[in-house]
Amino acid sequence: MVEVMTEEDSIRNLFIENPQFIANSFDFPVGKPDAKGYYNAQSFGKNNHLGDDWNGNGGGNSDKSDPVYSIATGYVSKAINYFGGWGKVVTIIHSYKDGDSLILKESLYAHLDTMMVHKGDWITKGQEIGKIGTADGIYLAHLHLEIRQEPGMPLGQGYSSDKKGYLDPTLFIRRHRLIQSNE
Ligand SMILES: [Zn+2]
Repeated sequence: MVEVMTEEDSIRNLFIENPQFIANSFDFPVGKPDAKGYYNAQSFGKNNHLGDDWNGNGGGNSDKSDPVYSIATGYVSKAINYFGGWGKVVTIIHSYKDGDSLILKESLYAHLDTMMVHKGDWITKGQEIGKIGTADGIYLAHLHLEIRQEPGMPLGQGYSSDKKGYLDPTLFIRRHRLIQSNE
């Protein structure tokens, strides 16, 4: 018998082998801690938005090139320039314990001015992973943040009436500011 390991199992094993990168807390991706100096200009669900749009309180492009931080420890799964409406995008897989299970989620940071990490990098919470951008002048500078239910979902469109697989980032981060471990 050949045992078939799913992609998700192999990611889970990666975290089991590197337990120091299992997350025990989450924070917002800008203005750490707690998004100080930023506001959510288009929250999850508004206009069928699949993420949050973080903008500096100064408005306009005042937040361009501000640091973007990883919302938790994790593993960089993508750092790709898609050009067009997405621009430079970083995705990070996070893992945390819920009872006996190891939960996996993936965060996505879009329209970046600069990417400061590469696929395969291990990341700590609050580490600068890039800078806020405009997707090469398409938008006023802001950070589009998504949190996906599981790793490896397609890039998507950023907007959809079908929210399957997408979590409300602000709600998720608030609920996981501190993760209680049973150990
Ligand atoms: Zn957005």
